[in-house]
Amino acid sequence: MCQSRAARNPPRRRAGAVTPDPALEARALAALLEAIAADTRDTAAWTGRTHLAPRVLEAMGRVPRHEFVRPRDRYRAYLNQPLPIGAGQTISQPFIVALMTDLLDLDPADRVLEVGTGCGYQTAVLAHLAARVDSVEIRPELAAGAAERLAALGLDNVALHGGDGFAGWPAAAPYDAIMVTAAPLEVPPALVEQLAPGGRIVIPLGPVGGPQVLYRGRRGAAGALHGDNLLPVGFVPLVTPDDLV
Ligand code: SAH
Repeated sequence: MCQSRAARNPPRRRAGAVTPDPALEARALAALLEAIAADTRDTAAWTGRTHLAPRVLEAMGRVPRHEFVRPRDRYRAYLNQPLPIGAGQTISQPFIVALMTDLLDLDPADRVLEVGTGCGYQTAVLAHLAARVDSVEIRPELAAGAAERLAALGLDNVALHGGDGFAGWPAAAPYDAIMVTAAPLEVPPALVEQLAPGGRIVIPLGPVGGPQVLYRGRRGAAGALHGDNLLPVGFVPLVTPDDLV
């Protein structure tokens, strides 16, 4: 009997193309949560946190990271590493996402501002933990993709805004917590002003490629920000509109 043409010439797999396997992804996610716990212990001398809140880890487990990376990167979506998301930007390493989220000490009733929506992954994690998330992104092409993904996941407590996060998002202020996912040299004053008394901010500070540190601050009743430099990190810069032209 003749072989069919398809059997003689099976379709060639593109090098690197991997068929998505939900069972494998579920195991990879479990391994990722273990890697996050291990990184947390390894960095506890800097951060002061030997473990992350169970509800933060639960939120990490609920967000399908493979939906936020480029299709070609899906096979490595659950490795504990940053990945490119286009426009020269990156989705942060999952451990850093989990740690920064934990450092905000979120209450389910909190209102959160995120600066640097990117692909929307961190936004989705925050949306599972807070009452409302406003997120500002300066690059329209990234904001559009994030809006689609977050809507597809049915996260309706998120409001995405195009704009320059140096100015925060005054319309929805004050915030109980602010998370910044790109590094300026110092904490933008507008963000301090938009923090409620007792509000927390987590932000990388420092020059591109130079020494950067993850800073956690809390706004006191008198309005001043008090905080600590915690962990050495490497983030893309918080840019101004002039940097983009
Ligand atoms: N949390 C994102 C991280 C993306 S990288 C994620 O999980 O994908 C940092 C993001 O900050 C980029 O999308 C970049 O375009 C954005 N960004 C840089 N400067 C900004 C600014 N001034 N205002 C708002 N977003 C900014």
